[in-house]
Formats: sequence, structure tokens, C-alpha cells
Amino acid sequence: MEFYQGKLHPLLKIKCQSARDIGRIPPKLKMLTGTYILQSHRIKMYENETDLMCFICHQGDETLEHFILECEGLSDIRNPITDEINAILKGSTNVDFHEQTSKVKMQILLDITMLRENLKLDTKLMAKIEYCSRRLLFLLHTTRYSFLSKGWKKDKKNVKVL
Ligand SMILES: [Zn+2]
Repeated sequence: MEFYQGKLHPLLKIKCQSARDIGRIPPKLKMLTGTYILQSHRIKMYENETDLMCFICHQGDETLEHFILECEGLSDIRNPITDEINAILKGSTNVDFHEQTSKVKMQILLDITMLRENLKLDTKLMAKIEYCSRRLLFLLHTTRYSFLSKGWKKDKKNVKVL
């Protein structure tokens, strides 16, 4: 995935629909630029961190792909929005989102502008999909954080006060 420093990313040129929509951009940009911190990144950053396992579903390593596309614990949040994206895409391009490879799905969700020519998307359609993907990634982000803070609370309870 490419990101040009000092140049406005094409994603940011897509018109925002509301103030709330604008607030959803930062986590998405972090995911896009590889600076979003998941377990798989933590392991590289901290020596004492050895668990790659996703703490939400405990069924796989928490990679960006797992988090965005696969994690079962997040499917209730993910499915309605990917269905929405599928309906938009299928309605105008005949592309079935659910039938795409993980790589293409990630591309659609993280940076639809790269597929603009391939899928012959017009600006309006791209904005619609971008609106959905921002909402999806933001919801995944906030849900992951609520799982994280629940975990912390649990840990605190286990700490014995001497
Ligand atoms: Zn998971």
C-alpha cells in the first residue's frame, strides 16, 4: 500500500458527510499506513510481549487482516456493514464483495481509491463505499478498545492489595 508523505492522500479528498464522519478518519489512516497497534505489532515493540493471539476471539493471531476481516468476535459489527458495501458494489459494478480475495477486500476497505479505475467507480460511488468503510473500521476500533479495557479491569481485580 502506498502513502505519499507531504501529499494529500486521495482518500482524504473524498468529501466527508458529517463531523462524525471526519472523526472516523484517524483510526482508518493508521490502519492504512501500518501504524495501527495490534498484538502482532506489539510483539515487535516490546520484548516481554510474546502473545500474538487475538484477545477478542482467541482463535488466531491478531493481524490487521484478522482484525478487519476474520475475527469472529467482531462479526456482528462487521457483517451488516460489509453487506451494505456489497449491495452498493453489486448494484452498480456487479462486483460481489464477499467473493473477493482477502487482499481485494482489504483494498476496498482500506483504500478504495486504488481500485477506482479497475472497478470503474465514479466519485459518488467511491464516496458511498468510503463512508461505509470508515464507519466499519471505526466501529471495529472502538469495539476492540472496549474489549481491551474490559481486560484491564479484570486484571486489576486480580491484583492483590498487600
Ligand atoms: Zn479475533
